[in-house]
Amino acid sequence: MGGSSAINGVFAIRGQPADYDGWAAAGNSGWEFETILPFFRQLERDLDFANEWHGTDGPIPIRRYRGPQLTPIQKGFLESVRGSGYPWIEDLNAPGGIGLGPTPLNEVDGVRQSTSLTYLAPARTRQNLTIRAGVLVDRIVIRGDRAIGVQLAVPAETIPSDSVILTAGTYGSPAILLRSGIGPAQDLQDLGIEVKADPCRCGR
Ligand SMILES: Cc1cc2nc3c(=O)[nH]c(=O)nc-3n(C[C@H](O)[C@H](O)[C@H](O)COP(=O)(O)OP(=O)(O)OC[C@H]3O[C@@H](n4cnc5c(N)ncnc54)[C@H](O)[C@@H]3O)c2cc1C
Repeated sequence: MGGSSAINGVFAIRGQPADYDGWAAAGNSGWEFETILPFFRQLERDLDFANEWHGTDGPIPIRRYRGPQLTPIQKGFLESVRGSGYPWIEDLNAPGGIGLGPTPLNEVDGVRQSTSLTYLAPARTRQNLTIRAGVLVDRIVIRGDRAIGVQLAVPAETIPSDSVILTAGTYGSPAILLRSGIGPAQDLQDLGIEVKADPCRCGR
C-alpha cells in the first residue's frame, strides 16, 4: 500500500513557480503555480514554516534537518558547496528557492510518511471503503463513452462501477489505458485492441 511513496527517498521538494507556469503556457491549463499552490498547502503540515507558501495542518508532515542534526558527511558536503557561490536558502520550497539549504523531507523520527500512513490509515475504518491487496487490473470496461467498471486480470473478476479513478502510476496508468482501448488508434489496432478513444488523435 502506498505505491512508490512507500519506497521513495522522502525528498519533499516542490518545483519552482516558473516550471508550473511553463507547463500551463504550453497548453496545460490548471497547472499554473497560483492554481496548484493551494493543493501544495493542503497536503502538508510544514513543521518549520507557517506563511503564505505553506500549509500547517495537512496530512503529510514536512521537516528539515539543520546544524547538529546533520551527519558529518552532510556537514562536509554543505561546507564544501557553500564556498562555490550558491546562495543559502532556508526554505527551498518557497519561490526563488534555488540554491543550498536544508532539504525538506516527508520523514519524522526516521519514519517515511507515505500516502498509506498519511492518507489511507485515517480512512481505513470508513464503511464505504474496501481495500484489496494482490489485485492486478487489466483494463477499464467502457460502454459508449462511459467507464462502467474495471476488469481484473488477477483474480479474474469484473467490478461494475459508476465512476473509475485511475491512479496506477507513471507506467501502470498508460498501460491500463492502452489495454482499455484508449490511445493511438493505429497502435491499438495493430495489437487487436478495439479502439475506444484516441484522445491525442496521434494515430501512431
Ligand atoms: C526509488 C524511488 C525514489 C523516489 N524518491 C522520491 C523522493 O525522494 N521525492 C519525491 O517527491 N518523489 C520520489 N519518488 C517519486 C514518487 O515516489 C512518485 O512520483 C509517486 O509515488 C507517484 O505516485 P502515484 O500515485 O502517481 O503512483 P505510484 O506511487 O507509482 O502508485 C501506483 C500504484 O498502482 C499500482 N499499480 C500499477 N499498475 C497496476 C495494475 N495493473 N493493477 C493494480 N495496481 C497497479 C502500483 O503497484 C502502485 O501501488 C521516488 C520514486 C522511486 C521509485
